Amino acid sequence: MFYDMHVHSKFSTDSTLDMETAVLKAIELGLSGIAFTDHLDVDFTDYEDEFHYDFNDYFMLLNSLKDKYSKTIDIISAVEIGLQPHVIEETSQLIDGFTFDYVIGSTHLIKHRDPYCGKYFRPDDIKIQSYNEYLEELFNNLKLFDAFNFNTMGHLDYIVRYANFDDSAFYYNDHSALLDEIFKYIISKDISFEINTSTYLKQPLDKKLLTRYKELGGELITLGSDAHNLDRIAKNFKLYSQIIKDCGFKYLFSFKDGKPIAHKI
Ligand SMILES: [Zn+2]
Ligand SMILES: [Zn+2]
Repeated sequence: MFYDMHVHSKFSTDSTLDMETAVLKAIELGLSGIAFTDHLDVDFTDYEDEFHYDFNDYFMLLNSLKDKYSKTIDIISAVEIGLQPHVIEETSQLIDGFTFDYVIGSTHLIKHRDPYCGKYFRPDDIKIQSYNEYLEELFNNLKLFDAFNFNTMGHLDYIVRYANFDDSAFYYNDHSALLDEIFKYIISKDISFEINTSTYLKQPLDKKLLTRYKELGGELITLGSDAHNLDRIAKNFKLYSQIIKDCGFKYLFSFKDGKPIAHKI
């Protein structure tokens, strides 16, 4: 069955989810694997608490759960790195010496503006322009952080979660040239395309994103719930795996030691 490749535990500043409770829930749901992708987000505007944590504590707990549940479920070490142009050096120093199975590169802030806190969109914003600005920032960040060798590009359409337009959905056709560049870039770097089901709780996924990624030669799709609590683990995975299959993909991927592993849908 499925791998949920994007779950937060209490090591994330914005989650209180106990790791073992999450593992037991994943087993109950019949998942084959779960990746704990806690936030490393340096200089996160508006938060007093820093979005980073002690990796030694993380690995100690994760490895003990791996030992305990290895016959039942695959537990994957992972980190979701928050990308901003000025935090490359500090992020690199914090992560130095630690090896994760899976690394997500995500853009949460756009020139210090945080959409989650309502600080990104302005009342007179035009949807296509504001989404485009997000995509440009995301693409620029991916290139700046090239040396990090990400395994996936986190939530490409993250920005729609906090938008409030008449139609806030994110359409491939509105950004086709830039999205083609992004897709070609990630394909050339073996960076997977994350389908993050949390985003689609609010707006539907434009299937053209998937079909265009495939047309350009993309195969690596990961499925993540971005759960910060128990109820969200593997949310809507049956629905979105079927959509991915209908778009012509035969496999979903998990990662181990930074290498993709195919699982038939
Ligand atoms: Zn994220
Ligand atoms: Zn996340």
